Amino acid sequence: MMAATATDTARGELRLTEPMSKHTSWRVGGPAETFFVPNSLEDLSLFLHELNEEIPVFWFGVGTNLLVRDGGIHGVVISASRILRELERPEHYLVRAGAGLPCTQLARQCIRWGLGPSEFFAGIPGTIGGALAMNAGAHGGETWERVESVRTIDRDGEIHERAPAEYTVGYRSVTGPKNEWFIEAVLRFEEGVEPSLEDMNSMLERRKKTQPLGLPSCGSVFRNPPGDHAARLIEAAGLKGFSIGGAEVSEKHANFIINSDNATATDIEELIEHVRQTVIEVHGIELVHEVRIVGEVAK
Ligand SMILES: Cc1cc2nc3c(=O)[nH]c(=O)nc-3n(C[C@H](O)[C@H](O)[C@H](O)COP(=O)(O)OP(=O)(O)OC[C@H]3O[C@@H](n4cnc5c(N)ncnc54)[C@H](O)[C@@H]3O)c2cc1C
Repeated sequence: MMAATATDTARGELRLTEPMSKHTSWRVGGPAETFFVPNSLEDLSLFLHELNEEIPVFWFGVGTNLLVRDGGIHGVVISASRILRELERPEHYLVRAGAGLPCTQLARQCIRWGLGPSEFFAGIPGTIGGALAMNAGAHGGETWERVESVRTIDRDGEIHERAPAEYTVGYRSVTGPKNEWFIEAVLRFEEGVEPSLEDMNSMLERRKKTQPLGLPSCGSVFRNPPGDHAARLIEAAGLKGFSIGGAEVSEKHANFIINSDNATATDIEELIEHVRQTVIEVHGIELVHEVRIVGEVAK
């Protein structure tokens, strides 16, 4: 079901029982009770302001790090990746990027501007908002190393300017003010660090050779434990190719789980748990998953 207008005043697209499998890179996930795509930041702000405060809100980037359970998401899922896509350069080394902007687009424009280090963003298939929420990183670079400031929106639709000091940032983890979501970041790049299109392209080529990029996945499922690699531990536990239902540990990269044959979210979650338990039994190391698991178990 779809309605053109979300509320009397906030404009956007409101879909009821929207299958999240249409929106996640694993191609699984039950329905969002309500899925809202605002027309503008003002509409988003009005929508949040008018929304009954008891209704849970879940913010969605483009679903490249998300396992939505088969029972779906209760409440409202907000997708702002069609708006908040601005990208500008207010000062020589500073870039302002909207939370809905794809990280790949940021990388390409920074390379044109000669701003580095920025190539690592090209390997991250999500949005700037998702990268801020996850402290996404690759090839030695991390999102929050570049953050000068962020703008957020809260549950009442109010906008805030925030400094990095207001967040606790770690490896693939960020905690900060509750019930606020990123709408924009100002990123600082470095003097004398020239990015190169060739470096970016060879990094992308390497990823193509070592990761199952054409198949539905969420990238690395587990965080690397200190001093080791989750992929090495999983492979050494003999789990490459192991499957539950339609979910399979990739033969190409053991820290990737692929949806190889109409997997359900339950198949994937059970496989994640099986891998975790096996790695504990074989290596005595407890892996922590990097992917966010959300929603309700199917009844
Ligand atoms: C093939 C592949 C390769 C990948 N490689 C890498 C890699 O090299 N490095 C890496 O770090 N990740 C990698 N990932 C994982 C993923 O791309 C990143 O975690 C990315 O940052 C997620 O962004 P998203 O927009 O898809 O967020 P989503 O998956 O939609 O959401 C992820 C989390 O962020 C929250 N969130 C999203 N937007 C906002 C916002 N604006 N404000 C507050 N919270 C928000 C969501 O609520 C959710 O909890 C890979 C994924 C795939 C499929």
